[in-house]
Order: sequence, then structure tokens, then C-alpha cells
Amino acid sequence: MFSNKMEFKETFLRRLEMTCGKSFAESTKRDQYDTLGNMIREYVSLNWIETKEKNRVAKNKQVYYLSIEFLLGRLLRHNLINLKIDQVVSEGLAELGIHLDEIEDVEVDAALGNGGLGRLAACFLDSLASLNLPGHGCGIRYKHGLFEQKIVDGYQVELPEQWLRHGHVWEVRKADLSIEVPFWGKVEVSEENGRMIFRHVNAEMITAVPYDMPVVGYETETVNTLRLWNAEPSPYPINRDIMQYKRETESVSEFLYPDDTHDEGKILRLKQQYFLVSASIRSIVRSYRKQYGSLVDFHQHISIHINDTHPVLAIPELMRILIDEEQLSWDEAWHITLNTISYTNHTTLAEALEKWPIRIFQPLLPRIYMIVNEINERFCKNLWDLYPGDWNRIEEMAIIAHDQIKMAHLALVGSHSVNGVAELHTEILKKREMKNFYEVYPEKFNNKTNGITHRRWLIKSNPKLTDLICDAIGNDWIHKPELLEKLEAFKEDSVFLNQMFLIKKLNKELLAKRIQDQTGIVVDTSSIFDIQVKRLHAYKRQLLNILHIMHLYNRLKEDSSFNMYPRTFIFGAKASPGYYYAKKIIKLINTVAEKVNNDASINGKLKVVFLENYRVSLAEDIFPAADVSEQISTASKEASGTGNMKFMMNGALTVGTLDGANIEIKDRVGDENIFIFGLKAEEVLNYYQHGGYRSMEYYHHDKRIRKVVDQLTNGFFEGVEDEFEAIYDSLLMQNDHYFVLRDFASYIQIQRDVDTAYKNQQKWLQMSLMNIAKSGYFSSDRTIEQYAKEIWSIKPVGQFTTS
Ligand SMILES: *Cc1c(COP(=O)(O)O)cnc(C)c1O
Repeated sequence: MFSNKMEFKETFLRRLEMTCGKSFAESTKRDQYDTLGNMIREYVSLNWIETKEKNRVAKNKQVYYLSIEFLLGRLLRHNLINLKIDQVVSEGLAELGIHLDEIEDVEVDAALGNGGLGRLAACFLDSLASLNLPGHGCGIRYKHGLFEQKIVDGYQVELPEQWLRHGHVWEVRKADLSIEVPFWGKVEVSEENGRMIFRHVNAEMITAVPYDMPVVGYETETVNTLRLWNAEPSPYPINRDIMQYKRETESVSEFLYPDDTHDEGKILRLKQQYFLVSASIRSIVRSYRKQYGSLVDFHQHISIHINDTHPVLAIPELMRILIDEEQLSWDEAWHITLNTISYTNHTTLAEALEKWPIRIFQPLLPRIYMIVNEINERFCKNLWDLYPGDWNRIEEMAIIAHDQIKMAHLALVGSHSVNGVAELHTEILKKREMKNFYEVYPEKFNNKTNGITHRRWLIKSNPKLTDLICDAIGNDWIHKPELLEKLEAFKEDSVFLNQMFLIKKLNKELLAKRIQDQTGIVVDTSSIFDIQVKRLHAYKRQLLNILHIMHLYNRLKEDSSFNMYPRTFIFGAKASPGYYYAKKIIKLINTVAEKVNNDASINGKLKVVFLENYRVSLAEDIFPAADVSEQISTASKEASGTGNMKFMMNGALTVGTLDGANIEIKDRVGDENIFIFGLKAEEVLNYYQHGGYRSMEYYHHDKRIRKVVDQLTNGFFEGVEDEFEAIYDSLLMQNDHYFVLRDFASYIQIQRDVDTAYKNQQKWLQMSLMNIAKSGYFSSDRTIEQYAKEIWSIKPVGQFTTS
């Protein structure tokens, strides 16, 4: 299509005029973006076709990653970088007087996810393609992604997100590959030739229409597929009001549920789950049959991974196809299903474990319910053989109990691999949360510590640091990120360290400009940029951070000689719309910001900024500018965290608890290059189990705590004294479930250590360097290589010889 700048310019101009029907001079930024996006998608289409063909001919085993969320962010620059044409394109555009940055800003984030779980799925797609692995994503094409957040008067306001308003250049609608997904109706059972036949009749069909997106690997010809399903009315006849049917149908792919830890909005949520699973598996089976005919060796050619329990109905759906359509016996079908499906657990928070009441499940999915029931009965029988008479244990482990279906139990029983997402998390699953299942199936359990794609979170987001690294150690690390370790050799190189400092400073200036544009707040770029960005949740303890800021403010006010290095505290966080408490924390952060930022008496030593609408594209500007990364969850609660890895890779130092992947970060950088504080997971879990914590005692015995807690309600924040009662009560009346007050003194101390450390610039830069050098392990390439080898048994596809 184009192989140099000249050709690019010509093609671009011609295409612009042809598709927009305007001259270049008349064209808008959006016209230019659309033209460029379409060009790039077509540019990859040959390799896209070739990749599919190559996999088919070689009969490569394929993996399908089923996820209810894919938090992709923007794709233009990412694709340009992976195709290695970013330079040609940006220089070509520059000669036309167009800045690539401005065109990039036209693109709206594809925000089909809430946070870590959805972003992990997106990083995994990038690693699969970049490692030439035959792995594809299956998800839902939500019309509205995660809500847009505005802050009005300190409160979160939610606006519907509209990423499809102007169309999406990266997708291709494939209506001829639609799938009909049945809901409701009933199952007729009959017997033919000595075999039970199940027919799902009077079902209401929803048409699942696939939209495919190319997933481009880095510097490779491999182009995998992300298939997102759109829900549309079916052409099948229905005997009910057509308009209502249309509305109900379309609602299935209308909204992403705005929370990944609570489950709400019952029927629609379950409909979404089966819609995703059924459409995905039927389309996988359809193309499998076309190539192989029979399904008896399905598991040898196909691996299906379920990202948390949302797609767990993949298990009964595959059983249904193998039994009802393929006419296999239960045992044959079970063998194939078990060996096809693998499962990742993402949380041990009890409120996040999915359960469905039978009264909802059975009428909506009558045949699937029968199969789940049968799986449960057979499982319970096995348990009875293993633990004769131990009713309690069987009741606890059953898939169906007390009129509820437990999705995690179904996943544990019906998949051959169960993994946690960090070492600590996997240990907690084995020793506590899923102890009973670990006893029955020890061979299923394994750990796969999460990772992030260094291509988006370093190369794309921090080009200056990337160039510095390449100048120092060459380019090999891009394909083998563990080679970042070579940077250790520069630990005593003051020229190199100084360049690191200057790059951080430039990145802070870019973020400072953004802060000023967005909030009007002027921040000092020589202050410490101390950042906490992630979903707002009690267990993530943004509250601990803001109470500590109040404490610092108090110190500055009561003691003019209190010596602290100037700090800018930056927050970004969306709260689930129904999560009252989380919204109060947002209001508290903004209330503190208002007070602190407008108090001239503290000489600008403290600034507090809340950046609204935290999302992937904003995150890309934030990580490169961070000095300090706040990873302060209550130990045992954060399964892994991935924000922690993005900060580390950009040279920020972690202030963190021994939770999730923080532990593995510490293991790699060493105690001297991280700031660890607070209770350990074991201690937290023991408190939960045996009691013994009384937050009131910490309140009474530590006057620093008493002061900040009292300030929540005593008029310190004028005019909003009632606003924070729920927070006050959670800390004192409800015994501080997340141990904020318990960890407060330890947090103050570690923040003093940060202050001291930052004053020694050389030392700080060395610590920062060590974090970058050890971050290679946290590339999702390492994670995906482990999944490929240890769970999926898939191998890289050879590169094309032609093209
Ligand atoms: C990485 C990322 C997350 C996950 O952050 P954690 O700190 O691991 O919770 C959430 N949202 C966005 C936009 C991200 O990029």
C-alpha cells in the first residue's frame, strides 16, 4: 500500500478525497483520522487473511480467550508502532502540516472494561500476537463502554459513554457469520433408538453479529482476531410485541456493567454471559467442523480460556453441543470439555463471587440448567465416594446449593487448569478460599502472575525513556524484556542518571500542563509526583492516602518548622455508580484538595489533584510522570494489581503493602528499592478469623489519627460536616474493616522514608533505575509464554515466507 513517506502521502491524500468527498484543505481532523485508520486496517488485512490461512493449513492448536471485558484504549498509535510505520506516517503527515498527536486525540478510547481484568485481556491480546501465538479474543461489543466521569462540585457525575458515535474504523462487521442464541422456552425430552433426545423449543432467539478487529503483533506478520458480538433482533418469528422484543434484544449488548467486583442487574447480566459464551463457542465449533468434521479431537486443536467466572457457561454450552448435536456420550463429552477449558480466578472478595438463583437461571437457560444440574450431581457423587458421610463438606462444595448456582465451583470442576494471578493470591486460593477443591484437584491449581504489555506501557507511553534505554543497551530488550536488566550496569553512570532525571522532569511537565488545562491547578514539577490511579474501592484504600494527606496538612499548620519535601498527590478513580461509600471518598479527596490547594500559608508544599475520567489514554500520560506509586490495598485483598507494574516500568518507586504482585516486585528489586509498610496478608486474615482488632483503640491512642478522623465531621471542612459521616462510621462504628487506622502509623513512617530518600537525588535515581531494570519480568509476554506452555499447549506460528 505504501513503503515510503512519498507513497504514504499520496495514498493518504487520494483516500482522504475519495472517502470524505472533500479536498484536503476542507478536511477535518476526524476525516483525517478516519482516513488514516481505514488505511491502516486495510494495510494489515493481507496479513490477517494469511495468518488465518496459515493456522488452518498447519492445523495449529488455537486458543480463544473469552472475556466479558476488553479495555483496549486507543488503537491508532499502538497499531502504527507495532507495524513499525509510526515514523513514516508521522513524518509524512508532518509534511502535510498535520500533527499525528492531534489526529490521535480524535480517537475515543474503546473502554469495554472496568479496570484491571479488562486491561489484562487487552495486554494479553497484544502479547499473543507479538509472540506469533494463535490466540484470539471473544467479547461483547457494548454500545456504551464504561461511563464517562465528570467531577462537579467535588462529586462524581456519570455520563453515558459513546465510543461508537462516529463509527469505529478498526472493526469489520461480518453479518454472514451471525449466530442465533436461544433464551427462554422449554426442553422437550424424547427417546430415539435408545438415546435421550433434548429439544429446546419455543425459544426466543437473539442474533449475535460478529464484529472482528485485527490484533496486530509487534514487528511480525501475525494478525490475530478480536471478535466482539453485537446483539440484534433475530429474523425468526416471535409471537409478541415486536418493538419490545427489539428493545430487549438490543439491551443485551447495550451496556458494560460498571463494576467488576459487585454483581448487579441480574437477568440482563446473565443474558450477556450466555450470549457471549454461546455465540463464541458455536462459531468456534462451526469453523472447527468445517475443517475437521467430527469433534472427537476438539480439545487437541482448541483451548478455551475463561477470564474469571463470567464466561463459565462455556462449560455446559460445550457439553450441550457435544451431547445434543454431536451425539457423544456424557463421558466422552466431559473428557473433551474438561480438557478444552481453563479458568483464571481474579479475586477472593466474597461479594465478587458470582451466584445465580435457580429461579432466574432455569427459565432463561432451560437446557443449560439441566446440564449444570447433571454436572453437579455427578460431582457430588464423586465427593460422596471421597468423603463418605461428610455432608457439610459436600454441601459447601456443591455447584448448586440452597437454590443457587455457584459459578466459581462450576469453573473449578469443569476446567483442567485453575490459576491465580500472583503468587500470594494463588496461595490464598489453595490454602484458604478454595482449600476443599485444592484437596480434590491439586493438579489443576497453578499460578500465572499477571503482566502488562511493555509496548503500550513503556514504548508507546514513554518514548523518551524508550530512546534513552535503546541508546544505552540496544533494542534487544523490546523482544526480550528481561534484558532490561542490562540497565543495572548504568547504576553508577551519573550522565545516564541525569538523563533519566531530565526525562522524568519533561514527563512531569507534560502532565502538569494537562492538570492545569483540566483543573486550573498549577503544580510544581520539582515536587514529588505521588500518584494513586485505579478503580475506587474500599479495599484499595484511597482513604488511607487522603487521611495521610490531611495529617501532613495538619503538621504543616501546627508546626511551621515541619520539614517536608514538596509533594503533589494525584488521584484518578471511577466509583461504581451505585457504590455510595466510594463516591464519598471521591468527595473527600476533592474537599481536601480544595482546602489544601487554596491555603497560601503552607507555601505550596502540598497540592492535591483529582484527574477526572481515569481511563487507558489518560493512564498513558500519567505513569511516565510518576515518582511515587501508591499500591496500598489491605494485604490479601488485591489479587495482583497491574497498575503497580506500569508505574515500576516507568521508574516510579512503590509505596505498598505486601499484597498481590507488590510482593513479587519487592522480590525482584530488593527491599532497598521499594517502600513496604503495613499488615501482612497472614495478619489480616488472622484478624478476620479470630478477631482482636479494635479500631477505636488506635483512634484513642494515636492523636494524629484522632485529629484526622475528627476532622471528617467536626466542621474542619466548612459547610460539608455531614458529608463524611459514612466514612467516620466505617472507621469507628464498623471497626474499620480494611485496617486503615491499623496501618496508619506505619504508613506515616514509610512516607517519611520516601521524603528522606527523595532528598538524595542520586540515590533516588538509582532506585528508580533498578525498578526499570527489573520490570521485564512483569511484561505480559512472560505471562503469556507461561500460559501458552503450561496451560494451553500452543506453539508460535512460523513466519510467512511470502509477502
Ligand atoms: C492498569 C489499569 C487498571 C488496573 O489498575 P490497578 O492499580 O491494578 O487496579 C485500571 N484502569 C486502567 C485504565 C488501567 O490502565
